[in-house]
Amino acid sequence: MRAIPGMDTLLFKDWIKDYWIKAIGREPVKEILNQELAALRHDILNNDLDLDNINIEEELKSRCIKKFERAARKNLRRVINATGVVIHTNLGRSLIAQEAIDAMAQAADSYSNLEYDIDSGTRGQRNSLIENLLCSMTGAEAALVVNNNAGAVLLCLSALAKNSDVIVSRGELVEIGGSFRVPDIMAMGGAVLKEVGTTNRTHLFDYENAINENTKIILKVHPSNFRIEGFVTMPERSELAELAHKNNLIFMEDAGSGLLVPGETLNLVGETSVKECLNQGVDLITFSGDKMLGGPQIGVIAGKKDVIAKLRKFPMLRALRVDKSTFAAFEATLRIYMRGELDKIPTLEMIRRDKNLLREQADNLAAKISERINNKARVAVVETNDAVGGGSYPERPLIGWGVAVSCDASVADVKLSAGSLLNLMRENTTPIICGAHENALIIHVRTLLDNDINVIANRLEEIFIGNE
Ligand SMILES: *Cc1c(COP(=O)(O)O)cnc(C)c1O
Repeated sequence: MRAIPGMDTLLFKDWIKDYWIKAIGREPVKEILNQELAALRHDILNNDLDLDNINIEEELKSRCIKKFERAARKNLRRVINATGVVIHTNLGRSLIAQEAIDAMAQAADSYSNLEYDIDSGTRGQRNSLIENLLCSMTGAEAALVVNNNAGAVLLCLSALAKNSDVIVSRGELVEIGGSFRVPDIMAMGGAVLKEVGTTNRTHLFDYENAINENTKIILKVHPSNFRIEGFVTMPERSELAELAHKNNLIFMEDAGSGLLVPGETLNLVGETSVKECLNQGVDLITFSGDKMLGGPQIGVIAGKKDVIAKLRKFPMLRALRVDKSTFAAFEATLRIYMRGELDKIPTLEMIRRDKNLLREQADNLAAKISERINNKARVAVVETNDAVGGGSYPERPLIGWGVAVSCDASVADVKLSAGSLLNLMRENTTPIICGAHENALIIHVRTLLDNDINVIANRLEEIFIGNE
């Protein structure tokens, strides 16, 4: 016990003072040392250590270093998305275009005219920075942005329909990822939900019959993450618009994923762009910035001037306001759209990527892996079901290509199920998140970035050859 160095001595050892205290700070170092000293004493008392053959300080060092390394690791880490799900909400949704990243950095490291009108030298409006761009992309009369689409819907309902009725079809009372549920957001906004129709069929007369003197909004919600097929009816937007306007109501749409270009541009069938929705008579539309739009996390509200003017004056806007770097990234993204350079936006490029190119990437990856793992596993190029993701465009896979890696006794002496391969890939320094199908690990190439295939090949080599 006496051979165990005390805390004060330890804090002056070079490996601690000159390295770990600098790397993670004094308090975390002390906390880990305390834990490991206690564990060491405990093990000595239990006779778990061969005291004749170990150096106490070395033992302590080897125990601490793993913990120090873990403490030094960032909590928010880069991961490799090999799932083929382009807008993967758990992995951070859309990647941002290079131009938008540069704009974010510039907004962060210098002062800007965020709320300053350079011409007049007086206070300006941060929302005016992107309003003209949004209006020309969507054809809206006016627009503003908030923190995210959930915030956008909440703001609209609170500002326009507090204690009033909002009519929604039962087929559109959706839940998006547990935390956004249309009925809950209604309640939070103080609006009274009037459900009409049935899950699969809602008629114009259902909406019409629900209108009374307390009604303020007819709300249409993009079903986002599910699809009802078969015996299904919903009124056209133009019919709902006409009904709303005849009764002096606002026709609002929560479009979920904001499509700024026609669905066909992305080969997506049956998706309506924001511009088309507004053309069909929607007064007020909300959508996310980081789903199909391919920008930063933001919630857009666009539509009629008089309605947006009311929102602008509503105090909740201040609580949902967007940060300057996000503004910068969003403006840069919109400017790429204006120039029509869609493939500079990673989300759009990944969704649109040519099948032959995907096949070529999968061939390359398979060759690279085979070269490294020396027949220890079966490696095959396979067609994959990729996805737009982010609760956009459900139940219709994007057909892509990938590499299947499987391993059973007949191919190699190491037997690894797809499940354990998934875990091993995830445990890489840069975690690699893959798919699995029929007991093979599936690496979808659509969502891989430039250097990812080297990291993946290295990791598979480590798994199959590393311990030999
Ligand atoms: C995704 C989605 C939301 C939530 O949007 P966030 O930007 O994640 O807040 C709301 N409504 C619909 C229909 C959606 O698809």
